[in-house]
Amino acid sequence: MAKAFVVGHPIQHSRSPLIHGHWLKTYGLDGSYERIDVAPVDFGEFLRGFHARGFAGGNVTLPHKEAAFLGVDRRTERAQRVGAVNTLWVEDGVLWGDNTDVPGFIGNLDVSLGTGWERTVDTALVLGAGGAARAVVAGLQDRPLKRIFVANRTLSKAEDLARDLRPGSSVSIETSAWEALGRVIPHAQLIVNTTSLGMAGQPTLAIDFSRAPRNAAVADIVYVPLETPLLTAAAAQNLRTVDGLGMLLHQAVPGFRRWFGVTPEVTPHLRALILADIEAAR
Ligand code: NAP
Repeated sequence: MAKAFVVGHPIQHSRSPLIHGHWLKTYGLDGSYERIDVAPVDFGEFLRGFHARGFAGGNVTLPHKEAAFLGVDRRTERAQRVGAVNTLWVEDGVLWGDNTDVPGFIGNLDVSLGTGWERTVDTALVLGAGGAARAVVAGLQDRPLKRIFVANRTLSKAEDLARDLRPGSSVSIETSAWEALGRVIPHAQLIVNTTSLGMAGQPTLAIDFSRAPRNAAVADIVYVPLETPLLTAAAAQNLRTVDGLGMLLHQAVPGFRRWFGVTPEVTPHLRALILADIEAAR
């Protein structure tokens, strides 16, 4: 029986067990996926010991993504670029780390906007410069865009992100001061919120979309609530919108495939299941 986990601190809020549990049942697999709470001081020992405890691998969430990045033997190219690891497995005795937020974000965009969406996007604007922003920019970099603007309240963090992700990039990565957003929006055919603004309990992210290109799409990676005030404002301007739940579901696919050997499908049924759980918790 293959066993996997999600490790974090705290971990009770994680919806990963619901996602992977649904897939294990759907595909009739003899496996398990459990939450494990590990304090930062114990994480190094956990990382080195999980395989001996019978686990094939697992997901890593806050606050351990950087410690996992530093602690693995080898990283995928995208994990290397992002500087964080959220998926672990062992292959021929080697501890590997991946960052599946990258394909999670892009895969969801492909499904939501339709493959080939990048043909009408030359400029993307990413709001925020935290861990999630790095995964989003790394995903967008793999597409033939002309440039990506990163705007953040703390401009120096946007500059750090751009400096770290620029090497080898065929897409130009530029920064914008938060106060200058209004000047970038008319040029951006794709706008992505990666800040925590708009999340339940957080202030709203108020953006004026009246001067956005008419064909622009707006994605929010916040998924509680599912329709954030940002997405409501974008829809009011007849812009296409992409919510954050799809990214959460799609980022789980590569890990499941590694540990359990089946490529699982993100279905409307799974989405409804997670949505019901989100609603029940509110
Ligand atoms: P993080 O590293 O803590 O970054 C937070 C970002 O939000 C920073 O850019 C921060 O700006 C900005 N921010 C916070 N409060 C702000 C305010 N009052 N005004 C303007 N900017 C503000 O967090 P993260 O890990 O990147 O996650 C960000 C969000 O993405 C969270 O809501 C998380 O739940 C969501 N997320 C979703 C998925 C998914 O699968 N859908 C995956 C990962 C994350 P400063 O640098 O100026 O502080």
